[in-house]
Amino acid sequence: LSDRTASFTDSVIRRMTRISLRYDAVNLSQGFPDFDPPAKLLKSLEEISKDPSPRYHQYSITWGAQAMRQALAEKQSRYMGIPVDPDENIVVTCGSTEAMMAAMMTVTNPGDKVVIFSPFYENYGADTILSGAKPVYVPLNPPQFDFDRKVLERAFCENRPKAIVLCNPSNPCGKVFTREELDFIASLCKKYDAYCITDEVYEHIVYAPCRHTYMASLPGMFERTISCSSLSKTYAITGWRLGYTIAAPQITERIKKVHDFLTVGAAAPLQEAVACALRFDQSYYDEVLALYTHKRDLFCKGLDELGLVHNTPEGAYYVLMDISEFGYSSDLEFCEDLARLVKVGAVPGSSFFREPVNHLIRFHFAKKDETLLAALENLKSLR
Ligand code: GLN
Repeated sequence: LSDRTASFTDSVIRRMTRISLRYDAVNLSQGFPDFDPPAKLLKSLEEISKDPSPRYHQYSITWGAQAMRQALAEKQSRYMGIPVDPDENIVVTCGSTEAMMAAMMTVTNPGDKVVIFSPFYENYGADTILSGAKPVYVPLNPPQFDFDRKVLERAFCENRPKAIVLCNPSNPCGKVFTREELDFIASLCKKYDAYCITDEVYEHIVYAPCRHTYMASLPGMFERTISCSSLSKTYAITGWRLGYTIAAPQITERIKKVHDFLTVGAAAPLQEAVACALRFDQSYYDEVLALYTHKRDLFCKGLDELGLVHNTPEGAYYVLMDISEFGYSSDLEFCEDLARLVKVGAVPGSSFFREPVNHLIRFHFAKKDETLLAALENLKSLR
């Protein structure tokens, strides 16, 4: 069997979901909602399911159904503040998971380096290895998760990376990169001729007063950014596996080829159905943000009341809790005990950090209030 498949582990996030199910724990590990997608979206899928037309049930164009790309181009042009063309700039993928993999395979040659901030969403390490490239990690330093500009520049200067991965807002630490930070990263991409591969799946979950800035919208960056995102979090449809890349035409041409041979295309009926959601007006995004702001505050307040130490995210829907006081040497063991004895599922922080960090675990709060309250109730037994 290949060396590359031996050089990374399976996903600890997905493993923790299976462990949570085994112990019947409230699952706050793998980040997905337990509440309903928008009713209009489900209605649209229902109507499509009754229509036997080949448009809905056979392959769509490999780089995405026309109706979805058109609606997505209009929406993203509005939010990103740059013109996005449905034919020249978009490839619809099976989740942002495929988008990131296709982006990585499109820009790197075997042996190329890719800069990744740590902590990071675990897919990036595996994506890099699968495409034959080598990750170079640069720490985001707690508690603010800011980075040392000198360390980042040194990583570029010494490794001449082909790309940097930018997860903004960040999973797992909830960091929202400031305009100044993004300008600095952009200046390094230009100076050292590197691409920026973004993961912006939480673009609509950015808590006031923070604001989301799209890397692709910065001067001179559209040409060298592959913006990856998904509909999973924004419309509560993680199981639909709909994501996309947005990039300049010459990059998009290459991504189309990678995507075509990887998967041919995302599910046609789902792409057709989602076009209606992509046309929701601003009030929908305001509601999503209000919902997650409420859940963040509810969950963080609950942890505070139990005297549990945690960060407060600026974006996305994860909280990191400090478990130093419990005296475990392994955060994985802590999480297993937490699922088995306390009946709450969490993800060990070590699966996100390159550095030897064993004192943090990650909860997500994309759950109904009653689910979050049940988890908090169970966490009382830690006291
Ligand atoms: N992004 C989610 C998380 O970090 C889950 C993604 C996945 O498992 N595909 O938990």
